[in-house]
Amino acid sequence: MINNLAIVGAGIAGIYAAIISKTLRPNLNVVLIEQAPTVGGLLASKTFGEMEFDYGTHVPRLTGHDTIDNILFGDLDKKQWRHFNNINAGNVSLNSELYTRSANPFLGKRSNPKYAQHIAQLLETLERKPGEHSNLEEQLKHMFGAGFVDAFFAPCIRKKLGAELQDLAPDTHKLIGLARLIVGETEAMRALKADARLDAVLAFADQTDGMSALTNMYPSDGRGIGLWIETLHKKMLALGVQIRTGCQVTEIMRKGKAITHIWLSDGSEYAIDHMCWCSPNFALINAAQLPFKSEYRPTIRQTRLYHFAFEQALNVQSNYIDVNDPQYHSFRITLYPNLSGRSSGPFKVTVEVIEPMNNECSPGQHDIHKELIAIGIVNANNPCVFSKQDVVKAGFPIITPAFKRELERQQAVVKSHLHNVSSLGKANGKYFFMQEVLIAAHEEMIALLGLDAQAGAEKPAKRAKPKASATALK
Ligand SMILES: Cc1cc2nc3c(=O)[nH]c(=O)nc-3n(C[C@H](O)[C@H](O)[C@H](O)COP(=O)(O)OP(=O)(O)OC[C@H]3O[C@@H](n4cnc5c(N)ncnc54)[C@H](O)[C@@H]3O)c2cc1C
Repeated sequence: MINNLAIVGAGIAGIYAAIISKTLRPNLNVVLIEQAPTVGGLLASKTFGEMEFDYGTHVPRLTGHDTIDNILFGDLDKKQWRHFNNINAGNVSLNSELYTRSANPFLGKRSNPKYAQHIAQLLETLERKPGEHSNLEEQLKHMFGAGFVDAFFAPCIRKKLGAELQDLAPDTHKLIGLARLIVGETEAMRALKADARLDAVLAFADQTDGMSALTNMYPSDGRGIGLWIETLHKKMLALGVQIRTGCQVTEIMRKGKAITHIWLSDGSEYAIDHMCWCSPNFALINAAQLPFKSEYRPTIRQTRLYHFAFEQALNVQSNYIDVNDPQYHSFRITLYPNLSGRSSGPFKVTVEVIEPMNNECSPGQHDIHKELIAIGIVNANNPCVFSKQDVVKAGFPIITPAFKRELERQQAVVKSHLHNVSSLGKANGKYFFMQEVLIAAHEEMIALLGLDAQAGAEKPAKRAKPKASATALK
């Protein structure tokens, strides 16, 4: 039986782990440790004067798992939130064409001069057997044919990640909204997707076709996604989670393979008998002084946020637009009035841009404003009443085969030396999107607490008891 649990990293994975632990085991002592001054990780909003803009991720979607959804969304005041099933996104993928019927890249006839050749090469892939691929270029050519890869994926991914396809690990395209393509109009796409092999690589022309039954949410009162984190913060305090922000774990004491005590950067000490690690493993390896040598240094691409507010309404109804076309710096454009359903101004927009590498300068606010006009989001005569830049420090790791091997090595050394640590969250490299991160965290916590995943009914705990005895958390 675990009595004293430390959770490191207060992104949504750590917050969920803290809340489910105290909900199912009210007597458990839980301390949540976060290096930043506030909890939330990539889910946060920042206020500039009277304007609130989101910091990283914007839209939570219910997971479809009752326990998770009740814990995370059950306490929200319905009046403050807009609920919607249609994510209503768009994209700009080839020849500057704005396509507002889906976020999946539109590479149809009207924007693609080599359409017939590319389709012929896509259809040739139907004869291929599934295979193992050593890099993204091999995988994409196998799935989509060389035409779409050379004309679209290679330049788009070079712009979005600053990397060549042959240097990236298979499946990296799925993390940046490029899992499936739209290559025709509504009826043509329905017919093509009837073939299971094409269904895996093609999307419906309209996002309302095959729409998820899961609800998305966004505050309707002009606030940002930070409102969700505020509610969860209050819930953690009410449940008795100890929250330590602005702190890191600097030292770890072990007895055999069990962690027994941790020290934080402010000098405080906690006796624990289990730890949930929701941040990169290298920090755990250092604090626990595990035997691990590595020369490998990952490349992380930070995201620069360009916030704007306009006096007049935006021209486009989409919630967000993925910009794949390499002629633009913009990566993703979020249109807040459409997310919140508010019809009164100011009309806010955030453009995410991946920071250039090799000391190149970031584009200026004016350059990005010009892109919003060129894409058709705002008119040139719509007065911009506010603009500001910010940087998301966490950023996107460039997922090369070497990066994946490094994460696996780190995971293996943690597993073999520490028996009372659970690895949760995006940082362990197995999952990236919020929904999958949450479902994996839920399963791990249920196994840890010795409960049945569906009903919450108690089961005998399968894990070995930590050998060291621990005093209560401070
Ligand atoms: C730019 C960007 C856009 C994204 N957009 C989407 C999207 O549209 N939809 C979607 O589903 N997903 C999106 N994601 C992914 C989504 O944000 C993640 O799935 C989710 O936020 C992961 O939560 P987490 O708790 O695992 O990690 P994080 O939110 O990264 O939280 C980790 C926390 O750990 C803290 N930490 C790190 N190291 C330490 C340490 N040593 N000690 C103490 N604390 C530490 C960090 O400060 C942070 O608060 C996006 C990610 C990025 C980078």
